[in-house]
Amino acid sequence: TDKKVKVVHEKPIDFTKIDTNLLPTVIIVGRPNVGKSALYNRLIRRREALVYNTPADHVTRDIREGIAKLGDLRFRVLDSAGLETEAASGSILQRTTSMTANVLARTQFAVFLIDVRAGLHPLDMEVGKWLRKHAQGINPIIAMNKSESLCDGVGSIADAADEARMLGFGDPIAISAETGLGMTALHDALQPLIEDYMLQVLNNNCDQNNGCATSNVDDVAGEVDESKLPLQLAIIGRPNVGKSTLLNTLLQEERVLVGPEVGLTRDSVRTQFEYQGRTIYLVDTAGWLQRTGLEKGPSSLSVMQSRKNLMRAHVVALVLDAEEKIAKSRRSMTHAEVVIARRAVEEGRGLVIIVNKMDLLKGKRNSMLFDKVMEAVPLEIQTVIPQVTGIPVVFTSALEGKGRIAVMRQVIDTYEKWCLRLSTARLNRWLRKVMSRHSWKDQAAQPTIKYFTQVKARPPTFVAFTSGKTQLSDTDIRFLTKSLKEDFDLGGSQSESCNGLFL
Ligand code: GDP
Ligand code: GDP
Repeated sequence: TDKKVKVVHEKPIDFTKIDTNLLPTVIIVGRPNVGKSALYNRLIRRREALVYNTPADHVTRDIREGIAKLGDLRFRVLDSAGLETEAASGSILQRTTSMTANVLARTQFAVFLIDVRAGLHPLDMEVGKWLRKHAQGINPIIAMNKSESLCDGVGSIADAADEARMLGFGDPIAISAETGLGMTALHDALQPLIEDYMLQVLNNNCDQNNGCATSNVDDVAGEVDESKLPLQLAIIGRPNVGKSTLLNTLLQEERVLVGPEVGLTRDSVRTQFEYQGRTIYLVDTAGWLQRTGLEKGPSSLSVMQSRKNLMRAHVVALVLDAEEKIAKSRRSMTHAEVVIARRAVEEGRGLVIIVNKMDLLKGKRNSMLFDKVMEAVPLEIQTVIPQVTGIPVVFTSALEGKGRIAVMRQVIDTYEKWCLRLSTARLNRWLRKVMSRHSWKDQAAQPTIKYFTQVKARPPTFVAFTSGKTQLSDTDIRFLTKSLKEDFDLGGSQSESCNGLFL
């Protein structure tokens, strides 16, 4: 029927572009001491000092929830270790019953861990029974943990697998939470489940909302008015380009609310100020000002650090030195600067380019250079970051206190675009117009897009639903992305068109 829309899904879903609220939840279950916490920690990439040694060591732990990263997959993961310890006595059945309906209701998948060294344990059977009773819709993936030990001749994987099948949940996979062995197998087992789920969610969002015709995607993602949240700004650039001076200019007349924030760790020291009634956080300015890490090798700690900071920022202001432009007379951006600008765009951050020290070009001898630089820099940026049009460029003289207002205007403007949410109704009205004003060479080549919806803001991310077997070609996607950016003035805040699904 008309309602049955199909998501075009040529290449794997890019999970990094999906709102984490929409991701499915995977719960890790198993009797005590099989390695649930160890697996949880591995999936969320956290190394915890405390992994408890024996069941008796278990102290009450809260049920933990995190965002798991497994290859290209992202999902929410629950460590049920906290639940089983809620009641210290009684059978596992009783204890795990405290795993409330609440938790299971929002869980789509389960990884059922057993300890391959210990062999099948009566409590494993009980966990299996419990799952059948309380989590009927969930067909768990059996994972034989600690299987690195089998390589030592303790037993064979095949024997262990035969045993594990007795649980009645199909073929097990062999993993080792501690060494990372078998994570590919876990990925491969989860991938089809999670991808199917994601496509369903995206389709349902559409169906539930009356065929998308009248809905506003705000209701779906439950995120509203993000533009009111504090703007996180990172001012970055090579040493000596004038970042500190610029910062002082920005802060000059503003009320600095807090210095380095109390209670925050050193790597998240931040300054907060108010600009026209709006709170702005300067992301890790201390770190950036001391050492930007731009001039170091790709694997250095400071580069990792700068990547982390980029991810934390909403808007990245990259400061360039106008004078160096003359000295080198060809390019205004060094390789490192191009790399970081591209990275900001790829990570979906809003980017503003600041060309500082323009005062040095104002002398008589240089007056032509002044105009030249003004012309050349935006062109150059367009060349090195072709996927985004209209990245704002602001020319300043931090020393003379010039350009402050322009900088702030662009930063705020970029942020607001970055937070933009377009209602599905508006998008679909737009889609009809844009499709009719574009003429396809071959009429048959015109794609049939049923609905178009924004799945997430910050950065704005869109999904196109097509009907039947039609798939969007790269050209179609480029066309849609370009039109979207132009018509809604998404300019420098837009992330690059990525795979066949997300624009
Ligand atoms: P939980 O009670 O299920 O959360 O289990 P834990 O994660 O606390 O792990 C219990 C014990 O098993 C700890 O001593 C871990 O170091 C150990 N462990 C966890 N995963 C592995 C593994 O893959 N191999 C081995 N050899 N030990 C593991
Ligand atoms: P940072 O290392 O990027 O923080 O750079 P600083 O803010 O410490 O500035 C480095 C040098 O450039 C200092 O001597 C500043 O006075 C100078 N400087 C900064 N902004 C300007 C500017 O707009 N014009 C001129 N002529 N010099 C500037």
